[in-house]
Amino acid sequence: MRPRIGIPAGRADASADAAFHVGADYVRAVEAAGGLPVLLPAGEGPVLPEEALRGVDGLLLAGGGDVAPGLYGEQPHPRLGPVEPDRDRWELALARRALAAGLPVLGICRGIQVLNVADGGTLYQDLEAQLPDALQHAQKAPRWHRSHPVRIEPESLLARLVGAGELAVNSFHHQAVREVAPGWRVTAVAPDGVVEAMERPDLPFALGIQFHAENLVAREPRFLRIFQGLVEAAAARGRHAEAEVLGEVWRGESVESVHRGHGAVVSAGGELLYELGQPGFVTSLRSAAKPFQAMAVIESGAADEFAISELELAVIAGSHSGTRAHTALVEGLLGRLRLDRSALVCGPRPPLDAAARRELALSGESPTELHHTCSGKHTGMLAAALAMGAPVDGYAAPDHPVQRAVRRLLAEVAGVDEAALKQGTDGCGVPTWYLPLERMAYAYARLGRPQSLPEDHRAGAGRVVHAMLNHPEMVEGPGEFDTALIQASGGRILAKTGAEGLLCLAVPERGWGLALKEEDGERRALYPAALALLEQLDLLGGRAAEQLERWRHPVQRGGQGALSEVRPVARWTPAARPLGG
Ligand code: MN
Repeated sequence: MRPRIGIPAGRADASADAAFHVGADYVRAVEAAGGLPVLLPAGEGPVLPEEALRGVDGLLLAGGGDVAPGLYGEQPHPRLGPVEPDRDRWELALARRALAAGLPVLGICRGIQVLNVADGGTLYQDLEAQLPDALQHAQKAPRWHRSHPVRIEPESLLARLVGAGELAVNSFHHQAVREVAPGWRVTAVAPDGVVEAMERPDLPFALGIQFHAENLVAREPRFLRIFQGLVEAAAARGRHAEAEVLGEVWRGESVESVHRGHGAVVSAGGELLYELGQPGFVTSLRSAAKPFQAMAVIESGAADEFAISELELAVIAGSHSGTRAHTALVEGLLGRLRLDRSALVCGPRPPLDAAARRELALSGESPTELHHTCSGKHTGMLAAALAMGAPVDGYAAPDHPVQRAVRRLLAEVAGVDEAALKQGTDGCGVPTWYLPLERMAYAYARLGRPQSLPEDHRAGAGRVVHAMLNHPEMVEGPGEFDTALIQASGGRILAKTGAEGLLCLAVPERGWGLALKEEDGERRALYPAALALLEQLDLLGGRAAEQLERWRHPVQRGGQGALSEVRPVARWTPAARPLGG
């Protein structure tokens, strides 16, 4: 769905049959930028601003009459123009609510003045009377004529949209921002010093412009970028509102709980094939980054230098469950690096595997770094540091050569701008990165089809996939989902779970990648939905589906039998379009 941009509508006059109105150029500009205009009339009913804004992903405050000076603590100047008190009240409430909620907001002409007053600033009631050296800001020329220049500050939101430096604009205002509201930065001024743009640097998109960009879009496409910026920010915001139900939790005769999520199926050629909710939903990769982190280990030369076996590579690319078989492999590789477990910054953690946990407890020993589900990945990173001639200490720091290599590789495989990759720290202490789900799916599709990757990543991808598909018990462990799905599919589907309800899959024979996220960060509906969605694509069925029954249809049992069960309801919607950014 297109991002919805709310535009408050004022009234032309106060008579009984007055109509609410919004200038047609605002509506056209929002549509041209890919948004869906939604008019929000300044009625007199009991509608609260939060109710009105719940239905939109962004807010556009349009031009109009003067803001009543009492709203910023002044008496009316003799040159004050027409005031519409209902519209003032409505727009100030919407602006304050939008700013408080971080909703993307663009104010134009009167709109920049509303934003300034809403956040505590003041206005010139009449430039000509109150600013003696002001140039003519109420131009008598046509709407599209650009009568005076403005200077746009570099490193600002406005500069990112239309470029920094001098830009000629139109001008239809006799009022302007006087005292700038706290927290706002002036990012464009006219030659006489009049504020022509301001923005809130702490918010994703809060911009006011004094000129009428909507009248300029048709003749100068550069001005459309301002509306596209609003619509893009609104799209990013709207993603959170568009989740679809993955699974229902039934108890007795009714649904007790619902889990929602998003997903994408993408081809190695870069086509979004199927979608669920918002395929552009941005989340962190967490442990689903491990196959790419393992590729970076191979590309460092470490796999050859330290003779890393295929079993060890599967442990490096996986999230092992801490069985003896797993810890022995990690310890063996650490020994060949002439290091021990004290070099691993992940810290100690009990095994995920219940039997291994029991065995450890009975032995009276404490869990160590080796039992941590990420100890394979960390050991691989240490090997990469040695192979690169980089220090072993600090290998988890974002600016360490190993982490920089992972970051560069991930951006290349996912086909995104490296500078735009948002970063966080994973539970085990190394960096993790944010990507839209469709980019994760693309990265997995290419992982499974190495020939679709740039030459220098092909060998690494091929070796990682081969290792994971041939040694599924090393990717997670006996009785765990990723291992079970790889095994049940006969090595045709590569599975890698990440924390916070993420699952990524590669289907090499079709050249497809899948990413599925349970929005609440849980996994209760994630695996049932994933298996149902694989069945919908004819990628799973018959005996393989039966082997996965405990994940496909989880049942919680009590003394009297079944108490509740999870039923997947997710379905893919065909998309067939190129990937988004
Ligand atoms: Mn002006």
